Amino acid sequence: MICFVEVLLKDIFVQGKDFQWTRPAICLNCNHFKVWGHGFVPRYFNGFAGCLYMKCYRCPLCGCVMTCRPDTHFTRIQCCKETIRILLTLRMETGRWPPSSLPPPRMRHWLVNLKRQTLAQLTSTWKEGLVAAFIALIAMRIVPVSRSM
Ligand SMILES: [Zn+2]
Repeated sequence: MICFVEVLLKDIFVQGKDFQWTRPAICLNCNHFKVWGHGFVPRYFNGFAGCLYMKCYRCPLCGCVMTCRPDTHFTRIQCCKETIRILLTLRMETGRWPPSSLPPPRMRHWLVNLKRQTLAQLTSTWKEGLVAAFIALIAMRIVPVSRSM
C-alpha cells in the first residue's frame, strides 16, 4: 500500500536514509493505532541519477506494508504530476511537445493513456478538454496517465 506524504525529494536525496520520515499515525488498512518501521525500498525519480530510498512501515496487527511516496508523484511514474500537467497543457495549446529532457515516446504514452482514461472514466461526451480531464481524474483518485484501468 502506498502512503502519500508531503516531502521534498531533494531532502531525501541529500539526507538518504537519515531523512526523518513522518510515521503514519495509524495503519492505512485496518486503522491500528501503531505501525513499525520496516526498512526502505529503492525508487527512481526523474531528475535524480540514482535511486532514492523510500521508507516502509508495517502494521503488526494486519501485516500491511506501507511504502511512503511523495504526494507530488503518481504511483509508478517517475515524473512529478505538475511537470506532466504542464507538458500536456503545452502539447494541447501548441499541437507540439515542448523541448524537454523527457523522451517523446514517454510523453506520447501519457497522452494516449489520458485519452483512454478520459473516454473510460469521464465518458465520450466529455467536452472540457484533456487538461481539465487530467485534473478531474485526479480528483476521482485515478492516475490520468496510467495505462491500467
Ligand atoms: Zn493494519
